[in-house]
Amino acid sequence: MTEWNTLADVAKDVGVCPLCPLCATRTKAVPGEGNEHPDIMFIGEAPGFHEDRQARPFVGPAGMFLEELLTSIGLKRADVFITNVVKCRPPENRDPRPVEINACAPYLERQAELLNPKVIVTLGRFSMAKYFATESISRVHGIPRKHNGMIVFPMYHPAAALHQPALRHTIEADMLKIPKVLAELSSQDKAKDDPKQLPLL
Ligand code: URA
Ligand code: SF4
Repeated sequence: MTEWNTLADVAKDVGVCPLCPLCATRTKAVPGEGNEHPDIMFIGEAPGFHEDRQARPFVGPAGMFLEELLTSIGLKRADVFITNVVKCRPPENRDPRPVEINACAPYLERQAELLNPKVIVTLGRFSMAKYFATESISRVHGIPRKHNGMIVFPMYHPAAALHQPALRHTIEADMLKIPKVLAELSSQDKAKDDPKQLPLL
């Protein structure tokens, strides 16, 4: 393993990674992509069929919905960074297994360090579990929380809305809260020395 000084270093090793059984069944590994100094980093679950072919995250139906959600807050894909908990597609899109999630964790951790986003948005329960292992997504979605000095904002996975139409409105409403979370963080930054300001996060 080379030293990962840049996101490109991480992506290079992901592209040829042999560290878990998913390397045997993937077509292409999907390191993640986007703005290298983003306010927001999105973490999904795992590549699916289209992602595995194109080596790009969220380019299938769930990706189309994610793009709509981004548009709803005035953002494009290129404004944010998008990646996944595991970088290679599980066969038949089954859930990623603990051994795979653990093997892939150093890539995700280094990406988060290098990106240093203002907010990490987790999409789905596997991504949420990286930060709040014992929480249930139905209880904590749409509520920003501190984790090791970072703000993590859990959301349902966009694919969940495609399967369960009732969730669509919830996901849309949660996305619309993100600009307020960012605004709150920047006003906290400005008010750091002002003892009258009480932090809301
Ligand atoms: N679902 C995910 O979790 N990630 C992708 O990249 C695509 C679909
Ligand atoms: Fe390596 Fe992660 Fe792909 Fe497993 S899922 S082979 S750990 S890049």
